[in-house]
Amino acid sequence: MRYNYRYRLDPSDTLRGTLDRHRDLYRQVYNHFLHRLKRIDGTTKYGEVNELPSIKKWWSDLSDLYSRTLQNAVERLYDNLSRLKDAKENGRKVGSLKWKAPNEYRSFTYRQSGFKLKNTSGRTVLRLSKIGEIPVRLHRELPDSARIKQVTVKKEPTGEWFAVLGIETENDAPPKPENPDRCVGIDVGILSYTHDSDGFSVGSLDLSEERERLERAQRDLSRKEHGSANYRTQQRVVAQRHTDLKRKRRDFLHRLSAYYAREYDLVAVEDLDAKGLMELPSNSRNRASASWGTFLRMLEYKCEREGTHFVAVDPRGTTKECSQCGVSTEKPLWAREHSCPSCGFTADRDANAALNILFRGLDQVGVVYSDSMPVETALPTGTTAVPAKRVMEAGSSGLTERTAQAVSE
Ligand SMILES: [Zn+2]
Repeated sequence: MRYNYRYRLDPSDTLRGTLDRHRDLYRQVYNHFLHRLKRIDGTTKYGEVNELPSIKKWWSDLSDLYSRTLQNAVERLYDNLSRLKDAKENGRKVGSLKWKAPNEYRSFTYRQSGFKLKNTSGRTVLRLSKIGEIPVRLHRELPDSARIKQVTVKKEPTGEWFAVLGIETENDAPPKPENPDRCVGIDVGILSYTHDSDGFSVGSLDLSEERERLERAQRDLSRKEHGSANYRTQQRVVAQRHTDLKRKRRDFLHRLSAYYAREYDLVAVEDLDAKGLMELPSNSRNRASASWGTFLRMLEYKCEREGTHFVAVDPRGTTKECSQCGVSTEKPLWAREHSCPSCGFTADRDANAALNILFRGLDQVGVVYSDSMPVETALPTGTTAVPAKRVMEAGSSGLTERTAQAVSE
């Protein structure tokens, strides 16, 4: 099985400079080959990789780079190209590959060779060919049987450097999360966008301003003479307002999903395909379920990238069931509180559901929580409401102080 483990790097100022220089050279190589791709007919991935030696003859800086990683920059371009083709074949609207600006090319990958994780006198460093030894914060151990297949070094928009280790283990069962404190259940809903088993409830994103601007632009369009120059100009304004709205929503979902994927070792959610959406008033049902679907897809691929377990559980009865004793009680939609007639446990309705989702998720990966996790420690002490606006403000306190790290991709 293959997993990703992500670790924070602590490069010195000198190493930081080297990392940035390498990153930028790989970017220039990517752009150079993109230019070739657009100018020369019939280029292929392997043909282009084979061009590298002759390009190195006049582009002397490239000799400072690790040659396999250099090849990888070219391969990345062609991998992006084939992904784009796949998306197009699946009927999606796609643009063309774009030139990468300095802040858009954030990572490079050492594949198979050129890296070594070393542990000397309690200090772990990542040795990268042509770069040096970078201290690693090894906040969790790699599984014993793990072989590191590749290392992606990435600079986040915050300026922090990370190493994502792609590892392969012999056994097929995923390594279980060891620390129940780093496991979370998430309930998606209407009143709050997410409610998690740690007691955080994130409000829905307020898009009313963007919607109003869009409607105003559409009204203006209807007053223009159809087909006139003014009409066409206004059409572009309407399109722009649409894009603004979509971008803001996606940005929110990116930040929120990145937060969960990074902060936790296991994330449990409801399987939306099976979730009864009938609980929702019909006017908000479609929009909400589409956005939850996007959120869960983002969460799933981000978890995969971060090496976080992602579990989708059976959603039946998560609201009715008592997370502490398992007894089911009917609850009308307006009842915001869970109060168990059998064991007396009371909690916010969504908090109880989030706990059920977490326990089902742990159950599914085979973690026995009854012994290792006394129920008391798993309970949130209360609900902390977090406005969606705060999730959007990168660098501020966000959900918790740690959220500052969880900025968008
Ligand atoms: Zn109960």
